[in-house]
Amino acid sequence: MKLFLVRCPHCHNAMKYSCDDGILTGKRKACVYCGKSFLVRKNLTVQKEKSPTMTAFSVSFDEPKA
Ligand SMILES: [Zn+2]
Repeated sequence: MKLFLVRCPHCHNAMKYSCDDGILTGKRKACVYCGKSFLVRKNLTVQKEKSPTMTAFSVSFDEPKA
């Protein structure tokens, strides 16, 4: 289990996202704040395993082509 911090492109709130295989690229995430989903396009995350702190995370997003 790896933890990432992702930022919603709609409301710009950051939320934790856990991912078993450590790959976020191409995956969909539903924002816990605004409820909209977005697609993680670039795997620019710095992952930490079971870390109590969330630092130095960076993710880029594109709008999902729905
Ligand atoms: Zn949002």
